[in-house]
Amino acid sequence: MTQTQRFTGRAVVVTGAAHGIGRGIAQRFAGEGAAVTLVDRNPLVERAAAEIGASGADVVGLTADVTSQDEVDSVFAAVRERHGGVDVLVNNAGIITISKLEELTLQDWNRVLAVNTTGAFLCAQAAVALMREKGGGGRILNAASGQARQGFIYTPHYAASKFGVIGLTQSLAKELAKEQITVNAYCPGIVGSEMWDYNDREWGRLLGSYEPGELMAEWVASIPLGRAGTSDDVAELVLFLASDAANYITGQAINVDGGMFMN
Ligand code: NAD
Repeated sequence: MTQTQRFTGRAVVVTGAAHGIGRGIAQRFAGEGAAVTLVDRNPLVERAAAEIGASGADVVGLTADVTSQDEVDSVFAAVRERHGGVDVLVNNAGIITISKLEELTLQDWNRVLAVNTTGAFLCAQAAVALMREKGGGGRILNAASGQARQGFIYTPHYAASKFGVIGLTQSLAKELAKEQITVNAYCPGIVGSEMWDYNDREWGRLLGSYEPGELMAEWVASIPLGRAGTSDDVAELVLFLASDAANYITGQAINVDGGMFMN
């Protein structure tokens, strides 16, 4: 089997796939033979799916909010109908806001936890039900972050949500191991995306007077491998963890950050 056929016959669901890292992951799975369902609350996900599918891959985009149990259930009902089950779930959807403590609203706190942590739980619960139906094991990959290693300033809710993702990952890995369902997390450092455009602007504003791009450049300069990450860097790790080569890896959180964190 060549590497480009690693996922032929596998049904893969990637959340937060309209843009950025999630779109990059979905594109790589499609390129390696998977039938891919892209999920995002942004309806642009349908266009992203059409663009990826233009190469002939089996790709569909569904608009849904991962914090809504009804919408998550509809997504997995559609996946079951179309593919008979799911082999790989990538819980990639995520949001961030940046505020000083006195300005951080309960609404922002709850929303960040709801998308980043509760959304991963809801999708995992729905996906595992389908994996059990087929009885053939499965893979769950959860987006954590460097902020699951160390909280950054002005983002206590985001750090809490990503530390939470690691707890969710370890607990589910223990519960699901006997069914050969592995659960792992990936921890990007700094990857250029719409999220980082926002981070650069808002952290830059709160930390002092930075011109656009300056703060990100300053932080990237301290990365041992000397550059920001790309969606492809993250996708390489996610596809490895989803592949047969990673059969014996579960409950892990792996940094893909150029050495930014070494714990
Ligand atoms: P992004 O903002 O470019 O993309 C995130 C996607 O998630 C968007 O398409 C958005 O519409 C979608 N989304 C948000 N809320 C949703 C919801 N409720 N339901 C469904 N979809 C929703 O972000 P990104 O940089 O590509 O980040 C992807 C993941 O990686 C996130 O979990 C993020 O926290 C994590 N991460 C990113 C970085 C980075 O440097 N970019 C670093 C560490 C971790």
